[in-house]
Amino acid sequence: MCVDLPTEMRSGIGRRRLMAGLGLGAAGLALGAAAPAEASGAGKARRKFGPPKSRGSRTRLVLLGTAGGPAIFPGNETAGIASALVVGDRYYLIDAGHGVLSQLHKANLGPESNTALDGPLDALAGIFLTHLHSDHVVDLNNVLVNGLYNGLQSVKKIPVWGPGNRGALPPLFGTGPLPSPVSPGNPTPGTREMGELMMQLFATDLNDRIFDNRKPVPTQLWEAKDVPVPERYLGDPNGTPAPAMKPFTFYEDERVKVSATLVNHAPVFPALAYRFDTDDGSVVFSGDTAKCPNLVRLARNADVLVHEVIDEDWAAKLFPVPRSEAEEGLYQHLVQAHTLKTEVGSIAAQANVDTLVLSHLVPVIQPESVWAACAEGFKGRMVVGRDLDVIDIGR
Ligand SMILES: [Zn+2]
Repeated sequence: MCVDLPTEMRSGIGRRRLMAGLGLGAAGLALGAAAPAEASGAGKARRKFGPPKSRGSRTRLVLLGTAGGPAIFPGNETAGIASALVVGDRYYLIDAGHGVLSQLHKANLGPESNTALDGPLDALAGIFLTHLHSDHVVDLNNVLVNGLYNGLQSVKKIPVWGPGNRGALPPLFGTGPLPSPVSPGNPTPGTREMGELMMQLFATDLNDRIFDNRKPVPTQLWEAKDVPVPERYLGDPNGTPAPAMKPFTFYEDERVKVSATLVNHAPVFPALAYRFDTDDGSVVFSGDTAKCPNLVRLARNADVLVHEVIDEDWAAKLFPVPRSEAEEGLYQHLVQAHTLKTEVGSIAAQANVDTLVLSHLVPVIQPESVWAACAEGFKGRMVVGRDLDVIDIGR
């Protein structure tokens, strides 16, 4: 799991209690703040690494939520990881962390006459999930179910792309008897199956809306699909790192061409990074990954690389040695399945991108000064992402 724990240094909450809170996730909506600069407790200082003022370009990246991990920091209102790539009058949603529907409203991505009968989802052209960790998908149902009252009812059928079934449970970290898995008949459903299960989960509500409010059936509005990763790379879900591969293109319409590659986020598999090529430029989303040559290849010469990052000093302080087996498991996931702040600059330099945008910050409460380390080795522009930042692409 991706873990961002409330900092004991700031909140005074003890490590044991933090551990106990893990996995509670983000079931409630933690809405973003009204102004991007105040999106987190750490964002009130003047921003050295903020984006230049948007000129409202035709193609632009909007950071809807920039927090990584399922835990919500007390007093911090940053939304969960989600981004929108606007191309003309439509946009593509990349991940759907907590608060995404409210963030879409705040970002004014819908029609100007935003009323109860339309809304930001009027302009949605597709959804792309990088992987199925809860912090990336927990509000997908908010978009696809409550979406009926926020503009989704008027879209033509949109694709919801994401990774397919893992095919096997992950190995147990450490020693001891194997726990009982959830849903043993199908313990690792992929995106297509998740869409079907979501309709079943919300069938009571959806049928009420369909029969009583005459809303369209979901199958007319969206279709969940597995990204077709070539079979030869899917043989070993527990293999690490992800097999070396060339990016492959799997989606194209009149605005974007979307390519993907496998990245290193073990034990999550498949975990994907996406590249969007448009007439105005290209934007790459790393998803969650440790340093990964596949990602560098995908991002080669892109205009913007949106990359995840973790503050490894924070992780080490949170889990000092000696560690219990559970603590060791979490610590190793944090530093081995994510990209360290001291690594991300050289990745952007290797890929030769113009702009590095940090999002999925772990922990999101750190001030910009902590993330300054990410610029090391990179000569381009760096933006430390905050909720509702807008980054223009091209002219
Ligand atoms: Zn993750």
